[in-house]
Amino acid sequence: MTSQPGDRWDAVVIGAGPAGSIAAAGLARRGVRTLLVDRAVFPRPKLCGGCLAPAGLGAIQRAGFGSIESVRDSLAVSRLDLHSGKYMASVGIPAYRVVDRSSFDSDLADGAVRSGAVFRDGIRAMVHPDCTVSLEYRRGRNPSVERVRPGIVIVADGLKGGSLAEFDLFAWSVRNASLVGIGGVGERYPGELAPDAISMFHSDEGYLGVARLPSGRADLAAAVRPSWIRRQKGSGPLEGFVRSVGLDPASFGELRSVPGVPSLTRKRRTIEASGRVFVIGDAMGYVEPFTGEGMSWAVESGAQVLPFASDSLEGRYQEGAWAGVVRRERARRTLPCRLVTGALRVPGAVRAITIGGACVPLVDRWLSHFARVAFGATSVEPVK
Ligand SMILES: Cc1cc2nc3c(=O)[nH]c(=O)nc-3n(C[C@H](O)[C@H](O)[C@H](O)COP(=O)(O)OP(=O)(O)OC[C@H]3O[C@@H](n4cnc5c(N)ncnc54)[C@H](O)[C@@H]3O)c2cc1C
Repeated sequence: MTSQPGDRWDAVVIGAGPAGSIAAAGLARRGVRTLLVDRAVFPRPKLCGGCLAPAGLGAIQRAGFGSIESVRDSLAVSRLDLHSGKYMASVGIPAYRVVDRSSFDSDLADGAVRSGAVFRDGIRAMVHPDCTVSLEYRRGRNPSVERVRPGIVIVADGLKGGSLAEFDLFAWSVRNASLVGIGGVGERYPGELAPDAISMFHSDEGYLGVARLPSGRADLAAAVRPSWIRRQKGSGPLEGFVRSVGLDPASFGELRSVPGVPSLTRKRRTIEASGRVFVIGDAMGYVEPFTGEGMSWAVESGAQVLPFASDSLEGRYQEGAWAGVVRRERARRTLPCRLVTGALRVPGAVRAITIGGACVPLVDRWLSHFARVAFGATSVEPVK
């Protein structure tokens, strides 16, 4: 069934990850009639290392969500244990928090509802070039489609969304040889890994991060070369990659994979259209998860877009303003991440990584340590 366009909503926000929920909460608090939709049924699994950087925690607190249960329960980590072959170096990092993504995202969506937004899950959204939105209700036996005409559309549908597929304007450009994301949750956290550290395992085929979840389970998230995945036979790619970096999959108890993510390093041709469609979070583009900044960028963009969205609803938005701000901000924020992830693939990259670290005082120590470990320099301690 297809209904006629309606104007019940001032704003439709597509995707209830951190970016979408923060944006929906902020809009609702400004008195904007806001519908937040997600195609998944919540709580849903989400591939992520779960490590929330200090910048992300600050943005969550500023958005008024500092006391949600999943943040209160989150575990503090201030060490990164870098493993490469038989070498391991342990370095201090600014205090990250480990969150369970499934609970974190549900709590944020609940927070958006408490702020006055309406949240509907199990709905796949598609944006049309006339800025109307089709909402495909996927629950139950008789899926139905409703078409709505909100004042603005905020697209926060992540790397796998596809809600902008009808717009050439928003086409992705994907970096050649981009890694893909795989991961899952282990029933228990291996005794040989420090419970208060993020453990990062690097190999020629990619890297795997392991962190202890507040429930005592283990979060595993990896960025891996697609060619390596294609060569795998037998057990699933997650188990195979865990083994390939020298860990025993059995030490995690039951290992449950979550849906993977294709080509991580990508960006969009543009991130706004007609002064009414605004793209935020991973849906704008992504570098790679190595530095654990994705959730922070998502939360920050969900808050940053609010004045632009308000201007659009009040008819005084200057086209290109959102894209301009993001271009400048992201170039600055993603520089260290782009340097590190690019350097991970380049032989003799130690110098480049050290330069990257030098640009960002807080991470310089661990980046240069990482460079020494991952590329086999001599002044590191072998694993006991
Ligand atoms: C391997 C890996 C490890 C990572 N580790 C970390 C880490 O340790 N720390 C960190 O900060 N970041 C990490 N990240 C990045 C982080 O997960 C993302 O940056 C973050 O989730 C982006 O949030 P978002 O709100 O933009 O999108 P998402 O969290 O991806 O949410 C998008 C939502 O949109 C929904 N959706 C999609 N299409 C539609 C549609 N058509 N209609 C309706 N809903 C739709 C999806 O169901 C989903 O719920 C990692 C990523 C990967 C791949």
